[in-house]
Amino acid sequence: MEATLIKLTDENYFSQEANQQYMSVSQFKAFGGCEAAALASLNGEWKEEESTALLVGSYFHSHFEGTLDRFKQEHPQIFTTKGELKANYRQANEMINCLETDEYFNQAYVGEREKIFTGELFGVPWKIKVDLLNLEDGYFIDLKSTRDFKEQKVEHDEEYEWVTFVERWGYLIQIAVYKEILRQNIGINDLEGFIIAVTKQKPPDKVILGFRPEDYEIGMNQVERNIERVLQVKNGLVKPTRCGKCAYCRSTKKLDRTFHYSEF
Ligand SMILES: [Zn+2]
Repeated sequence: MEATLIKLTDENYFSQEANQQYMSVSQFKAFGGCEAAALASLNGEWKEEESTALLVGSYFHSHFEGTLDRFKQEHPQIFTTKGELKANYRQANEMINCLETDEYFNQAYVGEREKIFTGELFGVPWKIKVDLLNLEDGYFIDLKSTRDFKEQKVEHDEEYEWVTFVERWGYLIQIAVYKEILRQNIGINDLEGFIIAVTKQKPPDKVILGFRPEDYEIGMNQVERNIERVLQVKNGLVKPTRCGKCAYCRSTKKLDRTFHYSEF
């Protein structure tokens, strides 16, 4: 099976072919959001519109990736007609600056950047791209930008609960999967994962987050609980569920029944 998989590079890592052949943390999370939208985007039938929030995150990230110049060329919409950076992206520069002027950040963010690894988890191939890997001191870091660090409301079986932004965005899944795929590639069992997060606030807030062994277990358990369903949908064995609320569902919606206003 391995032999038929494409070899991943910086150029094809995010390609449709790579996403079809490999599971990734973002793909897994997308299926956990809206299955219909995740499948349509995997099949190239749907492309999420690049919101400003998303673009600000990419701008921030591409700086640390060393690809900001290319990002600017490919996204002329981030400039005004006068050729100046729009306010949101000047704010992204503030976020970058707030890390790069931080002594501790500069000591910690040292190592190999944007390295791609593949491995196997729950019977399928996975791909990961690690923001920063420091093998000498045995850790990896993922950079995040977020609106703020406030707890967020999520819906669970028609009930609401408040969770940290780490849980809201599935970051425990990410550190767990990354640690395991890195273990398979490097053979180090106790690599430590960190998240360095910066907020889009003015001025930005920032934090370095570390994790306990049980946090990795929580993340891996979340994968274990849902991977079978995700693969069934991905492989066309069951019909994807429509969330009914996301942009994809709205854009493909058909009026097929009448609701009483109270149930809508
Ligand atoms: Zn949906």
